[in-house]
Amino acid sequence: MQTRLSNIKHLSRQELRQAIANLGEPAYRTRQIHQWIFSHRAATFEEMTTISLELRNKLADQFRIGFPILADCQQDGSANDPFSTVKLLLELDDNEKIETVLIPSENRMTACVSSQVGCPLQCRFCASGQTGFKRNLSADEIIDQVFSLNDFIRTKHESNEITNIVFMGMGEPLLNFENLKESIEVLSDQSYKFNLPQRKITISTVGIIPGINELGKSGLKTKLAISLHSASQETRESLIPVASEFSLTQLRKTLSEYTSQTGEPVTLVYMLLKGINDSVEDARLLVKFSRSFLCKINLIDYNSIINMKFKPVFNETKDMFIQHILDAGIHVTVRKSHGASINAACGQLAAKGTQKAENRNNL
Ligand code: SF4
Repeated sequence: MQTRLSNIKHLSRQELRQAIANLGEPAYRTRQIHQWIFSHRAATFEEMTTISLELRNKLADQFRIGFPILADCQQDGSANDPFSTVKLLLELDDNEKIETVLIPSENRMTACVSSQVGCPLQCRFCASGQTGFKRNLSADEIIDQVFSLNDFIRTKHESNEITNIVFMGMGEPLLNFENLKESIEVLSDQSYKFNLPQRKITISTVGIIPGINELGKSGLKTKLAISLHSASQETRESLIPVASEFSLTQLRKTLSEYTSQTGEPVTLVYMLLKGINDSVEDARLLVKFSRSFLCKINLIDYNSIINMKFKPVFNETKDMFIQHILDAGIHVTVRKSHGASINAACGQLAAKGTQKAENRNNL
Protein backbone atom coordinates (compact mmCIF):
# COMPACT_ATOMS: atom_id res chain seq x y z
CA MET A 1 0.00 0.00 0.00
CA GLN A 2 1.29 3.44 -0.93
CA THR A 3 2.00 5.65 2.11
CA ARG A 4 0.52 9.11 2.11
CA LEU A 5 3.11 11.87 1.82
CA SER A 6 3.15 14.36 4.67
CA ASN A 7 1.55 17.76 4.20
CA ILE A 8 4.31 20.37 3.87
CA LYS A 9 1.96 23.06 5.22
CA HIS A 10 1.94 21.42 8.64
CA LEU A 11 5.65 22.18 9.09
CA SER A 12 6.40 25.20 11.23
CA ARG A 13 8.77 27.71 9.63
CA GLN A 14 11.57 26.27 11.75
CA GLU A 15 10.74 22.73 10.59
CA LEU A 16 10.50 23.88 6.97
CA ARG A 17 13.93 25.51 7.29
CA GLN A 18 15.32 22.22 8.58
CA ALA A 19 13.63 20.20 5.81
CA ILE A 20 15.11 22.51 3.15
CA ALA A 21 18.56 22.26 4.76
CA ASN A 22 18.23 18.46 4.77
CA LEU A 23 17.70 18.63 1.01
CA GLY A 24 21.03 20.46 0.73
CA GLU A 25 19.38 23.73 -0.32
CA PRO A 26 20.32 27.24 0.82
CA ALA A 27 18.28 28.88 3.60
CA TYR A 28 16.70 31.55 1.34
CA ARG A 29 14.70 28.80 -0.38
CA THR A 30 12.65 28.44 2.80
CA ARG A 31 11.20 31.92 2.42
CA GLN A 32 10.48 31.35 -1.28
CA ILE A 33 8.66 28.09 -0.64
CA HIS A 34 6.76 29.54 2.31
CA GLN A 35 5.63 32.42 0.10
CA TRP A 36 4.45 30.05 -2.60
CA ILE A 37 2.40 28.16 -0.05
CA PHE A 38 0.93 30.96 2.06
CA SER A 39 0.97 33.99 -0.24
CA HIS A 40 0.38 32.51 -3.72
CA ARG A 41 -1.41 29.53 -2.17
CA ALA A 42 0.16 27.10 -4.61
CA ALA A 43 -1.68 23.79 -4.81
CA THR A 44 1.22 21.92 -6.44
CA PHE A 45 5.02 22.15 -6.40
CA GLU A 46 4.92 22.57 -10.19
CA GLU A 47 3.48 26.05 -9.71
CA MET A 48 6.59 27.17 -7.82
CA THR A 49 8.29 28.49 -10.92
CA THR A 50 10.90 30.60 -9.12
CA ILE A 51 12.57 27.50 -7.72
CA SER A 52 14.53 24.97 -9.73
CA LEU A 53 12.81 21.99 -11.31
CA GLU A 54 15.20 19.72 -9.43
CA LEU A 55 14.10 21.10 -6.05
CA ARG A 56 10.44 21.02 -7.04
CA ASN A 57 10.84 17.33 -7.88
CA LYS A 58 12.62 16.64 -4.60
CA LEU A 59 9.82 18.36 -2.68
CA ALA A 60 7.15 16.45 -4.58
CA ASP A 61 8.91 13.17 -3.73
CA GLN A 62 8.69 13.93 -0.01
CA PHE A 63 5.63 16.09 0.50
CA ARG A 64 2.18 16.99 -0.72
CA ILE A 65 0.31 20.29 -0.34
CA GLY A 66 -2.94 19.60 1.51
CA PHE A 67 -6.03 21.73 2.03
CA PRO A 68 -9.01 21.37 4.37
CA ILE A 69 -12.20 20.11 2.75
CA LEU A 70 -15.36 22.14 3.04
CA ALA A 71 -17.72 19.62 4.64
CA ASP A 72 -20.65 21.95 5.24
CA CYS A 73 -21.68 25.56 4.88
CA GLN A 74 -24.60 27.09 6.78
CA GLN A 75 -25.94 30.59 6.51
CA ASP A 76 -27.98 32.44 9.13
CA GLY A 77 -30.79 33.90 7.03
CA SER A 78 -31.04 34.46 3.31
CA ALA A 79 -28.09 33.65 1.05
CA ASN A 80 -28.66 37.06 -0.57
CA ASP A 81 -28.40 38.94 2.71
CA PRO A 82 -24.88 40.45 2.74
CA PHE A 83 -24.96 40.63 6.55
CA SER A 84 -25.94 37.07 7.33
CA THR A 85 -23.54 35.02 9.44
CA VAL A 86 -21.92 32.05 7.70
CA LYS A 87 -20.49 28.96 9.37
CA LEU A 88 -18.11 26.63 7.57
CA LEU A 89 -17.39 23.11 8.74
CA LEU A 90 -13.89 22.15 7.60
CA GLU A 91 -12.54 18.63 7.51
CA LEU A 92 -8.83 18.37 8.26
CA ASP A 93 -6.18 15.92 7.05
CA ASP A 94 -6.87 13.49 9.89
CA ASN A 95 -10.66 13.72 9.35
CA GLU A 96 -11.16 15.89 12.45
CA LYS A 97 -13.63 18.72 11.93
CA ILE A 98 -13.55 22.34 12.99
CA GLU A 99 -15.90 25.26 12.59
CA THR A 100 -15.09 28.76 11.47
CA VAL A 101 -17.51 31.65 11.22
CA LEU A 102 -17.87 34.75 9.06
CA ILE A 103 -19.57 37.68 10.78
CA PRO A 104 -20.28 40.42 8.24
CA SER A 105 -21.38 43.90 9.25
CA GLU A 106 -21.62 47.22 7.47
CA ASN A 107 -17.94 48.07 7.67
CA ARG A 108 -16.32 44.78 8.69
CA MET A 109 -15.91 41.20 7.60
CA THR A 110 -14.86 39.36 10.72
CA ALA A 111 -13.46 35.84 10.70
CA CYS A 112 -14.08 34.01 13.98
CA VAL A 113 -11.53 31.19 13.96
CA SER A 114 -10.83 28.08 16.02
CA SER A 115 -7.48 27.30 17.61
CA GLN A 116 -8.03 23.72 18.77
CA VAL A 117 -10.13 20.69 17.82
CA GLY A 118 -12.54 20.74 20.76
CA CYS A 119 -11.37 22.34 23.98
CA PRO A 120 -9.94 20.92 27.22
CA LEU A 121 -11.41 23.60 29.49
CA GLN A 122 -15.08 22.60 29.66
CA CYS A 123 -16.59 25.98 30.49
CA ARG A 124 -20.12 25.25 31.62
CA PHE A 125 -21.84 27.54 29.10
CA CYS A 126 -19.88 26.45 26.02
CA ALA A 127 -20.62 23.72 23.49
CA SER A 128 -16.96 23.43 22.40
CA GLY A 129 -15.94 22.42 25.91
CA GLN A 130 -18.53 19.65 26.00
CA THR A 131 -17.15 17.88 22.92
CA GLY A 132 -13.82 17.07 24.60
CA PHE A 133 -10.34 17.96 23.46
CA LYS A 134 -8.73 16.27 20.47
CA ARG A 135 -5.65 18.31 19.60
CA ASN A 136 -4.15 21.71 18.89
CA LEU A 137 -4.50 23.12 15.39
CA SER A 138 -1.31 23.67 13.43
CA ALA A 139 -0.57 27.20 12.22
CA ASP A 140 -1.65 26.36 8.65
CA GLU A 141 -4.95 24.92 9.88
CA ILE A 142 -5.64 28.26 11.57
CA ILE A 143 -4.55 30.22 8.48
CA ASP A 144 -6.67 28.06 6.16
CA GLN A 145 -9.81 28.99 8.11
CA VAL A 146 -9.23 32.64 7.23
CA PHE A 147 -8.45 31.77 3.62
CA SER A 148 -11.58 29.60 3.36
CA LEU A 149 -13.77 32.43 4.65
CA ASN A 150 -12.02 34.88 2.36
CA ASP A 151 -12.68 32.60 -0.61
CA PHE A 152 -16.32 32.39 0.44
CA ILE A 153 -16.64 36.18 0.51
CA ARG A 154 -14.97 36.46 -2.88
CA THR A 155 -17.63 34.23 -4.42
CA LYS A 156 -20.14 36.95 -3.47
CA HIS A 157 -18.11 40.13 -4.06
CA GLU A 158 -14.73 39.98 -5.68
CA SER A 159 -13.41 43.08 -3.93
CA ASN A 160 -14.40 42.01 -0.41
CA GLU A 161 -11.91 40.64 2.07
CA ILE A 162 -11.70 39.62 5.69
CA THR A 163 -11.00 42.82 7.65
CA ASN A 164 -10.78 41.44 11.21
CA ILE A 165 -9.93 38.16 12.87
CA VAL A 166 -11.09 37.07 16.30
CA PHE A 167 -9.79 33.93 18.02
CA MET A 168 -13.14 33.15 19.60
CA GLY A 169 -14.01 29.88 17.89
CA MET A 170 -13.35 26.41 19.26
CA GLY A 171 -10.50 26.09 21.73
CA GLU A 172 -8.43 28.23 24.08
CA PRO A 173 -5.87 30.01 21.87
CA LEU A 174 -3.36 30.66 24.65
CA LEU A 175 -3.03 26.90 25.20
CA ASN A 176 -1.72 26.68 21.63
CA PHE A 177 0.56 29.67 21.78
CA GLU A 178 3.35 28.75 19.33
CA ASN A 179 0.96 27.88 16.50
CA LEU A 180 -1.24 30.87 17.30
CA LYS A 181 1.77 33.19 17.10
CA GLU A 182 3.02 31.69 13.86
CA SER A 183 -0.42 31.93 12.23
CA ILE A 184 -0.70 35.60 13.23
CA GLU A 185 2.78 36.37 11.91
CA VAL A 186 1.86 34.83 8.54
CA LEU A 187 -1.57 36.47 8.35
CA SER A 188 -0.03 39.86 9.08
CA ASP A 189 3.04 39.53 6.84
CA GLN A 190 2.87 42.61 4.64
CA SER A 191 4.83 40.98 1.84
CA TYR A 192 2.11 38.32 1.46
CA LYS A 193 -0.97 38.77 -0.72
CA PHE A 194 -3.40 38.42 2.17
CA ASN A 195 -2.33 40.41 5.19
CA LEU A 196 -4.02 42.26 8.02
CA PRO A 197 -2.50 44.66 10.54
CA GLN A 198 -2.07 42.82 13.84
CA ARG A 199 -4.26 45.40 15.59
CA LYS A 200 -7.18 43.95 13.57
CA ILE A 201 -6.67 40.59 15.24
CA THR A 202 -8.15 39.82 18.68
CA ILE A 203 -7.14 36.92 20.89
CA SER A 204 -9.80 35.85 23.35
CA THR A 205 -8.86 33.85 26.45
CA VAL A 206 -10.60 32.70 29.60
CA GLY A 207 -7.58 34.03 31.49
CA ILE A 208 -4.66 31.62 31.08
CA ILE A 209 -2.09 33.67 32.99
CA PRO A 210 1.14 32.11 31.62
CA GLY A 211 -0.26 32.63 28.10
CA ILE A 212 -1.10 36.29 28.78
CA ASN A 213 2.44 36.83 30.07
CA GLU A 214 3.87 35.13 26.99
CA LEU A 215 1.66 37.24 24.72
CA GLY A 216 2.78 40.42 26.49
CA LYS A 217 6.42 39.54 25.84
CA SER A 218 5.90 38.22 22.30
CA GLY A 219 5.99 41.53 20.49
CA LEU A 220 2.64 40.80 18.81
CA LYS A 221 0.45 43.90 18.48
CA THR A 222 -2.84 42.05 18.63
CA LYS A 223 -5.77 42.94 20.88
CA LEU A 224 -6.66 40.90 23.93
CA ALA A 225 -10.13 39.98 25.18
CA ILE A 226 -10.73 38.21 28.50
CA SER A 227 -13.82 36.03 28.89
CA LEU A 228 -14.48 37.15 32.44
CA HIS A 229 -18.18 36.39 32.93
CA SER A 230 -17.97 37.02 36.66
CA ALA A 231 -15.83 39.07 39.02
CA SER A 232 -16.74 36.79 41.94
CA GLN A 233 -14.17 34.02 42.33
CA GLU A 234 -16.78 31.48 43.37
CA THR A 235 -19.19 32.21 40.52
CA ARG A 236 -16.37 32.38 38.00
CA GLU A 237 -15.07 28.96 39.03
CA SER A 238 -18.57 27.53 38.70
CA LEU A 239 -18.69 28.77 35.09
CA ILE A 240 -15.03 28.34 34.09
CA PRO A 241 -13.44 25.44 36.00
CA VAL A 242 -9.87 26.46 35.06
CA ALA A 243 -10.45 29.74 36.96
CA SER A 244 -9.62 27.77 40.11
CA GLU A 245 -6.00 27.66 38.88
CA PHE A 246 -5.86 31.37 38.01
CA SER A 247 -7.52 33.49 40.66
CA LEU A 248 -9.12 36.85 39.96
CA THR A 249 -6.45 38.49 42.13
CA GLN A 250 -3.69 36.98 39.98
CA LEU A 251 -5.61 37.81 36.80
CA ARG A 252 -6.02 41.46 37.80
CA LYS A 253 -2.30 41.75 38.55
CA THR A 254 -1.40 40.09 35.24
CA LEU A 255 -3.72 42.38 33.28
CA SER A 256 -2.28 45.45 35.03
CA GLU A 257 1.20 44.35 33.96
CA TYR A 258 0.03 43.47 30.45
CA THR A 259 -1.66 46.82 29.84
CA SER A 260 1.33 48.74 31.26
CA GLN A 261 3.67 46.73 29.03
CA THR A 262 1.64 47.03 25.81
CA GLY A 263 -0.16 50.34 26.40
CA GLU A 264 -3.26 48.65 25.01
CA PRO A 265 -6.58 48.28 26.82
CA VAL A 266 -8.03 44.79 27.21
CA THR A 267 -11.68 43.98 26.61
CA LEU A 268 -13.48 42.23 29.44
CA VAL A 269 -16.18 40.05 27.90
CA TYR A 270 -19.12 39.44 30.21
CA MET A 271 -21.97 37.15 29.19
CA LEU A 272 -25.06 37.93 31.21
CA LEU A 273 -26.67 34.76 32.58
CA LYS A 274 -30.03 34.98 34.27
CA GLY A 275 -29.79 34.48 38.04
CA ILE A 276 -26.07 33.63 37.88
CA ASN A 277 -24.04 36.80 37.32
CA ASP A 278 -26.63 39.54 36.72
CA SER A 279 -27.24 41.11 40.15
CA VAL A 280 -26.38 44.62 41.34
CA GLU A 281 -23.64 43.02 43.47
CA ASP A 282 -22.23 41.30 40.34
CA ALA A 283 -22.16 44.67 38.56
CA ARG A 284 -20.42 46.26 41.56
CA LEU A 285 -17.76 43.51 41.62
CA LEU A 286 -17.21 43.89 37.88
CA VAL A 287 -16.68 47.64 38.24
CA LYS A 288 -14.26 47.06 41.13
CA PHE A 289 -12.28 44.48 39.13
CA SER A 290 -12.07 46.80 36.11
CA ARG A 291 -10.71 49.80 37.94
CA SER A 292 -7.08 48.77 38.26
CA PHE A 293 -6.08 48.53 34.59
CA LEU A 294 -6.87 49.93 31.14
CA CYS A 295 -9.99 48.16 29.88
CA LYS A 296 -13.42 48.33 28.37
CA ILE A 297 -16.33 46.02 29.03
CA ASN A 298 -18.26 44.14 26.40
CA LEU A 299 -21.58 42.67 27.52
CA ILE A 300 -22.96 39.83 25.43
CA ASP A 301 -26.20 37.91 25.43
CA TYR A 302 -26.24 34.22 26.18
CA ASN A 303 -27.16 32.02 23.22
CA SER A 304 -29.19 29.05 24.26
CA ILE A 305 -27.47 25.73 23.78
CA ILE A 306 -29.40 22.50 23.90
CA ASN A 307 -28.97 20.61 27.19
CA MET A 308 -27.51 23.60 29.02
CA LYS A 309 -29.38 25.10 31.89
CA PHE A 310 -28.51 28.78 31.42
CA LYS A 311 -30.91 31.47 30.30
CA PRO A 312 -30.44 34.97 28.87
CA VAL A 313 -31.37 37.95 31.06
CA PHE A 314 -34.35 40.27 30.56
CA ASN A 315 -33.69 43.64 28.93
CA GLU A 316 -34.41 45.50 32.19
CA THR A 317 -31.65 43.55 33.94
CA LYS A 318 -29.26 44.28 31.11
CA ASP A 319 -30.13 48.01 31.26
CA MET A 320 -29.52 48.08 35.02
CA PHE A 321 -26.15 46.38 34.53
CA ILE A 322 -25.11 48.79 31.79
CA GLN A 323 -26.16 51.82 33.83
CA HIS A 324 -24.13 50.65 36.82
CA ILE A 325 -21.00 50.37 34.67
CA LEU A 326 -21.62 53.72 32.96
CA ASP A 327 -22.17 55.42 36.33
CA ALA A 328 -18.69 54.22 37.30
CA GLY A 329 -17.29 55.96 34.21
CA ILE A 330 -16.20 52.74 32.49
CA HIS A 331 -16.58 52.26 28.76
CA VAL A 332 -19.13 49.54 27.98
CA THR A 333 -20.45 48.13 24.72
CA VAL A 334 -23.21 45.62 24.14
CA ARG A 335 -22.39 43.10 21.46
CA LYS A 336 -25.19 41.92 19.26
CA SER A 337 -25.36 38.18 18.97
CA HIS A 338 -24.73 36.77 15.50
CA GLY A 339 -25.51 33.40 14.03
CA ALA A 340 -27.52 31.87 16.88
CA SER A 341 -29.91 30.12 14.48
CA ILE A 342 -27.06 28.09 12.94
CA ASN A 343 -25.27 27.56 16.28
CA ALA A 344 -22.50 29.87 15.15
CA ALA A 345 -22.69 32.36 18.01
CA CYS A 346 -20.35 32.62 20.99
CA GLY A 347 -19.99 29.31 22.80
CA GLN A 348 -22.07 27.38 20.29
CA LEU A 349 -19.35 25.87 18.09
CA ALA A 350 -19.16 22.12 18.46
CA ALA A 351 -18.23 20.81 14.98
CA LYS A 352 -20.39 17.76 15.34
CA GLY A 353 -20.57 17.46 11.58
CA THR A 354 -23.92 15.78 11.77
CA GLN A 355 -25.26 17.56 8.73
CA LYS A 356 -24.86 15.91 5.37
CA ALA A 357 -21.77 17.16 3.60
CA GLU A 358 -23.81 18.39 0.66
CA ASN A 359 -21.73 21.48 0.09
CA ARG A 360 -18.38 19.72 -0.01
CA ASN A 361 -15.88 21.52 -2.19
CA ASN A 362 -18.36 24.13 -3.29
CA LEU A 363 -16.43 27.25 -2.36
S1 SF4 B 1 -15.37 29.12 26.33
FE1 SF4 B 1 -13.44 28.92 25.22
S2 SF4 B 1 -12.06 28.05 26.76
FE2 SF4 B 1 -14.13 27.70 27.55
S3 SF4 B 1 -14.68 25.64 26.80
FE3 SF4 B 1 -15.42 27.13 25.29
S4 SF4 B 1 -13.79 27.24 23.77
FE4 SF4 B 1 -12.92 26.33 25.63
